[in-house]
Amino acid sequence: MNRNVYVRSVKFFFTGLLAAFLLASCGSVFLTGRKQLMLVSDQEVLALSLQQYRSFMDSAEVVVNSADAEMINRIGRSIAESVENFMTFNGRAHELENIDWEFSLVKDNSVNAFAMPGGKVVVFTGMLPVAESEAHLAVVIAHEIAHVIAKHSTERISQQIALQFGGEIAGGLLASSSETKRSIATAVFGLGAQLGVMMPYARKQEYEADELGLLFMAMGGYHPQEATAFWTKMSAAGGTAIPEFLSTHPTDAKRIAKIQQKMPDALYYYKGPGIINRTTAPIVKDTKVL
Ligand SMILES: [Zn+2]
Repeated sequence: MNRNVYVRSVKFFFTGLLAAFLLASCGSVFLTGRKQLMLVSDQEVLALSLQQYRSFMDSAEVVVNSADAEMINRIGRSIAESVENFMTFNGRAHELENIDWEFSLVKDNSVNAFAMPGGKVVVFTGMLPVAESEAHLAVVIAHEIAHVIAKHSTERISQQIALQFGGEIAGGLLASSSETKRSIATAVFGLGAQLGVMMPYARKQEYEADELGLLFMAMGGYHPQEATAFWTKMSAAGGTAIPEFLSTHPTDAKRIAKIQQKMPDALYYYKGPGIINRTTAPIVKDTKVL
Protein backbone atom coordinates (compact mmCIF):
# COMPACT_ATOMS: atom_id res chain seq x y z
CA MET A 1 0.00 0.00 0.00
CA ASN A 2 1.59 3.29 -0.99
CA ARG A 3 1.52 6.19 1.39
CA ASN A 4 -1.31 8.08 -0.31
CA VAL A 5 -3.60 5.10 -0.29
CA TYR A 6 -2.72 4.51 3.34
CA VAL A 7 -3.47 8.12 4.27
CA ARG A 8 -6.75 7.99 2.35
CA SER A 9 -7.86 4.82 4.04
CA VAL A 10 -6.94 6.16 7.46
CA LYS A 11 -8.90 9.33 6.70
CA PHE A 12 -11.78 7.26 5.43
CA PHE A 13 -11.72 5.20 8.62
CA PHE A 14 -11.77 8.26 10.88
CA THR A 15 -14.43 10.04 8.83
CA GLY A 16 -16.55 6.93 9.14
CA LEU A 17 -15.86 6.75 12.84
CA LEU A 18 -16.79 10.40 13.30
CA ALA A 19 -19.95 9.96 11.24
CA ALA A 20 -20.93 6.93 13.30
CA PHE A 21 -20.15 8.85 16.46
CA LEU A 22 -22.21 11.85 15.39
CA LEU A 23 -25.07 9.61 14.42
CA ALA A 24 -24.95 8.01 17.84
CA SER A 25 -24.77 11.38 19.56
CA CYS A 26 -27.75 12.88 17.78
CA GLY A 27 -31.20 12.97 19.21
CA SER A 28 -34.44 14.25 17.82
CA VAL A 29 -37.03 16.38 19.53
CA PHE A 30 -40.40 14.83 20.22
CA LEU A 31 -43.08 16.12 17.80
CA THR A 32 -40.91 18.64 15.92
CA GLY A 33 -38.40 15.97 14.84
CA ARG A 34 -35.54 18.49 14.88
CA LYS A 35 -32.14 16.79 15.13
CA GLN A 36 -30.02 17.66 18.12
CA LEU A 37 -26.36 17.25 18.97
CA MET A 38 -26.18 15.34 22.25
CA LEU A 39 -22.70 14.86 23.71
CA VAL A 40 -23.72 14.25 27.30
CA SER A 41 -26.11 11.71 28.72
CA ASP A 42 -29.31 12.52 30.60
CA GLN A 43 -27.75 11.06 33.73
CA GLU A 44 -24.69 13.30 33.51
CA VAL A 45 -26.78 16.41 32.94
CA LEU A 46 -29.08 15.45 35.76
CA ALA A 47 -26.23 14.89 38.20
CA LEU A 48 -24.88 18.35 37.38
CA SER A 49 -28.16 20.21 37.29
CA LEU A 50 -29.84 18.64 40.32
CA GLN A 51 -26.92 19.71 42.47
CA GLN A 52 -27.40 23.31 41.33
CA TYR A 53 -31.17 23.12 41.61
CA ARG A 54 -31.00 21.85 45.20
CA SER A 55 -28.58 24.55 46.30
CA PHE A 56 -30.77 27.17 44.60
CA MET A 57 -33.87 25.84 46.38
CA ASP A 58 -32.02 25.74 49.72
CA SER A 59 -31.20 29.43 49.47
CA ALA A 60 -34.53 30.47 47.92
CA GLU A 61 -37.66 31.42 49.81
CA VAL A 62 -40.01 28.73 48.57
CA VAL A 63 -43.70 29.53 48.99
CA VAL A 64 -45.66 26.61 50.40
CA ASN A 65 -49.25 26.12 51.45
CA SER A 66 -50.59 29.15 49.63
CA ALA A 67 -53.31 29.29 47.00
CA ASP A 68 -50.78 30.61 44.47
CA ALA A 69 -48.27 27.83 45.15
CA GLU A 70 -51.07 25.27 44.84
CA MET A 71 -52.17 26.83 41.57
CA ILE A 72 -48.63 26.62 40.11
CA ASN A 73 -48.47 22.98 41.15
CA ARG A 74 -51.94 22.22 39.78
CA ILE A 75 -51.18 23.81 36.39
CA GLY A 76 -47.83 22.03 36.15
CA ARG A 77 -49.17 18.61 37.17
CA SER A 78 -52.12 18.85 34.83
CA ILE A 79 -50.00 19.74 31.80
CA ALA A 80 -47.16 17.34 32.65
CA GLU A 81 -49.53 14.44 33.24
CA SER A 82 -51.25 15.04 29.89
CA VAL A 83 -47.93 15.25 28.08
CA GLU A 84 -46.70 12.06 29.77
CA ASN A 85 -49.87 10.20 28.83
CA PHE A 86 -49.59 11.45 25.28
CA MET A 87 -45.92 10.49 24.97
CA THR A 88 -46.53 7.09 26.51
CA PHE A 89 -49.36 6.45 24.07
CA ASN A 90 -47.06 7.42 21.21
CA GLY A 91 -44.22 5.13 22.28
CA ARG A 92 -41.92 7.76 23.83
CA ALA A 93 -42.22 6.73 27.50
CA HIS A 94 -38.49 6.01 27.66
CA GLU A 95 -37.81 9.74 27.28
CA LEU A 96 -39.58 10.37 30.57
CA GLU A 97 -37.46 8.02 32.66
CA ASN A 98 -35.29 10.72 34.23
CA ILE A 99 -38.06 13.18 34.87
CA ASP A 100 -39.49 13.74 38.31
CA TRP A 101 -41.62 16.88 38.07
CA GLU A 102 -41.50 19.59 40.72
CA PHE A 103 -43.38 22.86 40.29
CA SER A 104 -42.39 25.51 42.79
CA LEU A 105 -43.24 29.09 43.54
CA VAL A 106 -40.32 31.14 44.85
CA LYS A 107 -40.72 34.49 46.59
CA ASP A 108 -38.83 36.93 44.40
CA ASN A 109 -40.06 40.08 42.70
CA SER A 110 -38.34 39.23 39.43
CA VAL A 111 -40.76 38.61 36.57
CA ASN A 112 -39.22 35.25 35.82
CA ALA A 113 -39.61 31.50 35.52
CA PHE A 114 -37.21 28.76 34.55
CA ALA A 115 -36.94 25.02 34.13
CA MET A 116 -34.10 22.62 34.74
CA PRO A 117 -33.53 19.07 33.53
CA GLY A 118 -35.40 16.39 35.40
CA GLY A 119 -38.60 18.45 35.36
CA LYS A 120 -37.77 21.13 37.92
CA VAL A 121 -39.89 24.18 37.12
CA VAL A 122 -39.71 27.36 39.17
CA VAL A 123 -41.99 30.38 38.90
CA PHE A 124 -41.11 33.60 40.76
CA THR A 125 -43.86 35.47 42.59
CA GLY A 126 -43.02 38.52 40.43
CA MET A 127 -44.55 36.65 37.50
CA LEU A 128 -47.99 36.39 39.17
CA PRO A 129 -49.19 39.99 38.72
CA VAL A 130 -47.85 40.04 35.15
CA ALA A 131 -49.39 36.75 34.05
CA GLU A 132 -52.59 37.72 35.90
CA SER A 133 -54.58 34.57 35.13
CA GLU A 134 -54.22 30.82 35.52
CA ALA A 135 -54.35 30.43 31.73
CA HIS A 136 -51.46 32.84 31.23
CA LEU A 137 -49.41 31.08 33.90
CA ALA A 138 -50.17 27.89 31.98
CA VAL A 139 -48.52 29.49 28.93
CA VAL A 140 -45.35 30.09 30.95
CA ILE A 141 -45.35 26.67 32.61
CA ALA A 142 -46.13 24.77 29.40
CA HIS A 143 -43.26 26.64 27.72
CA GLU A 144 -40.91 25.61 30.54
CA ILE A 145 -42.15 22.00 30.40
CA ALA A 146 -41.36 22.09 26.68
CA HIS A 147 -37.73 23.10 27.40
CA VAL A 148 -37.50 20.00 29.64
CA ILE A 149 -39.14 17.57 27.19
CA ALA A 150 -37.02 18.89 24.30
CA LYS A 151 -33.87 18.52 26.46
CA HIS A 152 -32.71 21.98 25.54
CA SER A 153 -30.23 22.10 28.45
CA THR A 154 -28.48 18.93 27.31
CA GLU A 155 -28.31 20.33 23.80
CA ARG A 156 -26.94 23.62 25.11
CA ILE A 157 -24.23 21.88 27.16
CA SER A 158 -23.36 19.76 24.10
CA GLN A 159 -23.07 22.90 21.96
CA GLN A 160 -20.79 24.49 24.56
CA ILE A 161 -18.56 21.41 24.60
CA ALA A 162 -18.42 21.48 20.79
CA LEU A 163 -17.63 25.21 20.84
CA GLN A 164 -14.98 24.87 23.49
CA PHE A 165 -13.19 22.24 21.48
CA GLY A 166 -13.38 24.16 18.22
CA GLY A 167 -15.53 21.73 16.36
CA GLU A 168 -13.30 18.77 17.18
CA ILE A 169 -16.37 17.11 18.49
CA ALA A 170 -15.13 13.59 18.95
CA GLY A 171 -11.88 14.82 20.45
CA GLY A 172 -13.82 17.29 22.52
CA LEU A 173 -15.95 14.64 24.04
CA LEU A 174 -12.97 12.46 24.82
CA ALA A 175 -11.09 15.38 26.30
CA SER A 176 -13.96 16.79 28.28
CA SER A 177 -13.38 15.63 31.79
CA SER A 178 -16.17 15.62 34.31
CA GLU A 179 -14.58 18.82 35.68
CA THR A 180 -14.95 20.49 32.27
CA LYS A 181 -18.54 19.35 32.00
CA ARG A 182 -19.22 20.67 35.49
CA SER A 183 -17.83 24.10 34.68
CA ILE A 184 -19.80 24.20 31.42
CA ALA A 185 -22.98 23.19 33.23
CA THR A 186 -22.37 25.84 35.88
CA ALA A 187 -22.07 28.46 33.15
CA VAL A 188 -25.16 27.17 31.38
CA PHE A 189 -27.37 27.03 34.46
CA GLY A 190 -25.67 29.95 36.19
CA LEU A 191 -27.75 29.60 39.32
CA GLY A 192 -24.88 30.48 41.60
CA ALA A 193 -24.26 34.09 40.77
CA GLN A 194 -27.74 35.41 40.28
CA LEU A 195 -30.96 33.66 41.12
CA GLY A 196 -32.58 32.05 38.13
CA VAL A 197 -30.53 33.90 35.56
CA MET A 198 -29.53 31.20 33.17
CA MET A 199 -27.71 31.39 29.90
CA PRO A 200 -30.46 32.21 27.40
CA TYR A 201 -31.61 29.49 25.09
CA ALA A 202 -30.97 29.86 21.39
CA ARG A 203 -33.76 31.53 19.46
CA LYS A 204 -34.49 28.26 17.67
CA GLN A 205 -34.99 26.54 21.01
CA GLU A 206 -37.27 29.34 22.17
CA TYR A 207 -39.49 29.00 19.11
CA GLU A 208 -39.52 25.26 19.62
CA ALA A 209 -40.52 25.65 23.28
CA ASP A 210 -43.29 28.02 22.16
CA GLU A 211 -44.56 25.52 19.63
CA LEU A 212 -44.42 22.53 21.97
CA GLY A 213 -45.70 24.61 24.87
CA LEU A 214 -48.72 25.55 22.79
CA LEU A 215 -49.52 21.88 22.11
CA PHE A 216 -48.81 20.92 25.72
CA MET A 217 -51.05 23.57 27.29
CA ALA A 218 -53.83 22.47 24.93
CA MET A 219 -53.36 18.85 26.02
CA GLY A 220 -53.55 20.05 29.62
CA GLY A 221 -56.92 21.64 29.01
CA TYR A 222 -55.89 25.29 28.62
CA HIS A 223 -57.02 27.15 25.53
CA PRO A 224 -53.93 27.65 23.35
CA GLN A 225 -55.16 31.02 22.07
CA GLU A 226 -54.25 32.35 25.53
CA ALA A 227 -50.61 32.10 24.43
CA THR A 228 -51.07 34.82 21.83
CA ALA A 229 -52.67 37.07 24.41
CA PHE A 230 -49.90 36.37 26.92
CA TRP A 231 -46.97 37.03 24.55
CA THR A 232 -48.64 40.13 23.15
CA LYS A 233 -48.99 41.41 26.69
CA MET A 234 -45.34 40.55 27.41
CA SER A 235 -44.16 42.39 24.33
CA ALA A 236 -46.08 45.45 25.44
CA ALA A 237 -44.42 45.24 28.88
CA GLY A 238 -40.89 46.43 29.34
CA GLY A 239 -40.27 50.12 29.17
CA THR A 240 -37.54 51.09 31.59
CA ALA A 241 -37.63 47.89 33.62
CA ILE A 242 -37.53 44.94 31.24
CA PRO A 243 -38.74 41.84 33.06
CA GLU A 244 -36.13 39.10 33.32
CA PHE A 245 -38.37 36.66 31.49
CA LEU A 246 -38.68 39.10 28.61
CA SER A 247 -34.94 39.64 28.41
CA THR A 248 -34.40 35.93 27.78
CA HIS A 249 -37.62 35.63 25.79
CA PRO A 250 -37.62 38.55 23.36
CA THR A 251 -41.13 38.84 22.09
CA ASP A 252 -41.67 40.37 18.72
CA ALA A 253 -44.15 40.07 15.87
CA LYS A 254 -42.24 37.08 14.48
CA ARG A 255 -42.57 35.12 17.70
CA ILE A 256 -46.29 35.78 17.88
CA ALA A 257 -46.73 35.00 14.16
CA LYS A 258 -45.00 31.66 14.65
CA ILE A 259 -47.32 30.85 17.55
CA GLN A 260 -50.32 31.74 15.41
CA GLN A 261 -49.05 29.42 12.68
CA LYS A 262 -49.16 26.49 15.08
CA MET A 263 -52.58 27.34 16.45
CA PRO A 264 -54.55 24.86 14.27
CA ASP A 265 -52.32 21.98 15.49
CA ALA A 266 -52.74 23.09 19.10
CA LEU A 267 -56.51 23.38 18.74
CA TYR A 268 -56.53 19.79 17.51
CA TYR A 269 -55.36 18.72 20.99
CA TYR A 270 -57.62 21.06 22.87
CA LYS A 271 -60.83 19.46 23.91
CA GLY A 272 -61.81 21.88 26.63
CA PRO A 273 -61.18 21.77 30.36
CA GLY A 274 -62.46 18.74 32.20
CA ILE A 275 -63.49 16.73 29.16
CA ILE A 276 -60.15 15.82 27.74
CA ASN A 277 -59.18 12.48 26.36
CA ARG A 278 -55.74 13.33 25.13
CA THR A 279 -54.06 10.06 26.03
CA THR A 280 -55.25 8.44 22.84
CA ALA A 281 -54.77 11.34 20.48
CA PRO A 282 -52.57 10.42 17.53
CA ILE A 283 -49.76 12.77 16.64
CA VAL A 284 -51.11 15.49 14.43
CA LYS A 285 -49.39 15.35 11.02
CA ASP A 286 -45.64 15.86 10.79
CA THR A 287 -44.85 18.99 12.66
CA LYS A 288 -42.35 20.90 10.58
CA VAL A 289 -38.88 21.65 11.84
CA LEU A 290 -38.82 25.31 12.80
ZN1 LIG B 1 -37.85 29.75 27.08
